[in-house]
Amino acid sequence: MAVQRATTLQKEAERYRDASVRFMRDLVSIPSESSHEAKVAERIVKEMKDLGYDKAWTDDYGNVIGQIGNGPIRVVFDAHIDTVGVGSRSSWSYDPFEGKVEDGHIYGRGASDNHNGTVPQVYGAKLFKDLGGDTGKITLFVVGTVQEEDCDGLALRYALEKSIGNVHYICLGEATDLKVYRGHRGRMEIRVSARGKSCHGSAPERGDNAIYRMMRLVSDIEKLNERLQNDPFLGKGTCAVTHISCDTPSLCAVPDGCYIHIDRRLTHGETKELAVAQIKELPGFDADRMQVEILRYDTPSYKGMVLETEKYYPTWVLPEDHNLVQSGVLAAEEALGRKPEISKWIFSTNGVSSMGQLGIPTIGFGPAMEEDAHSTNDRIKIDDMVKAIAFYAALPKAIIKLCGS
Ligand SMILES: [Zn+2]
Repeated sequence: MAVQRATTLQKEAERYRDASVRFMRDLVSIPSESSHEAKVAERIVKEMKDLGYDKAWTDDYGNVIGQIGNGPIRVVFDAHIDTVGVGSRSSWSYDPFEGKVEDGHIYGRGASDNHNGTVPQVYGAKLFKDLGGDTGKITLFVVGTVQEEDCDGLALRYALEKSIGNVHYICLGEATDLKVYRGHRGRMEIRVSARGKSCHGSAPERGDNAIYRMMRLVSDIEKLNERLQNDPFLGKGTCAVTHISCDTPSLCAVPDGCYIHIDRRLTHGETKELAVAQIKELPGFDADRMQVEILRYDTPSYKGMVLETEKYYPTWVLPEDHNLVQSGVLAAEEALGRKPEISKWIFSTNGVSSMGQLGIPTIGFGPAMEEDAHSTNDRIKIDDMVKAIAFYAALPKAIIKLCGS
């Protein structure tokens, strides 16, 4: 393998290597599942204040916002600060909250999703200023959003609309393995309920078994997945039944209600109306006894605010020749010393609101691997974290250059 020499900017980013390792290990050590982010938010605000950010605060919903600069181009670096849980502790070969350092990596829950974004964004914005970046031309908002794992986009939308306003460009810090990403499939959570008729389990012919009714639809949905449309960039739309339950008066009775949840991923051109209509058109769908609904999210934030919303997260793609994508490429070239690959995420991100709902140009760049997220191999490579600090210092300059006029 060719040895890549460190770029000038990477050498500058080295000044934050030790601090960023400490900060990452601190973040990993603070359990911060969705709606329980108060402590991790406080830690991030402290780091921003210690680094001399112009302002650092939490908004009324609970998002962290740090500001550097006061120029007319308003840019948000966003990473979410909540993590998923750890599941069974016995499946971990190390303590998920210790922040183990080994083989040049830091291991722990959240290291690859999404503290991998927070750490380089917090230091990268500061490095931009340290190196004489023109803070009269640009305002950087480094945002740590809450509840992304439960409801992508919701908290970022609040920050963009209510707490910051007039944002022109966004870069998400979700894992891209140092590539520049420009979109992903949308998603929605669907529930189908079937009604039946209960009777004694000893004489099932007297009733109408809601589970049997639903099973016909379940096998139709399995087949539907195979024929969903494809997009050359985003890939194929998918659907999967992810949960099933029933109502039954007893284990000796025929159930009169059955419910399934569907995880539907939407590719380019697929909308929620289409996805719902596709289910209703399946031969196993009985319009008289079945109902399709899109689930709703109404969990309060750690500050107690509720933003009720439908669990529909639209598909988004920014064209490759867009100025912001090209700014990402330019910044990556300066930071990494090579041309970055341009690609897309498999999973969903806060881009569903920033670009999917609000239409604000959005890209993504983060160290760490998408496949490590939510896994027991949750980790970040320290060298890549430092490279990402260099990227986040370079990106404001590239935006001023390519998007400034
Ligand atoms: Zn994430």
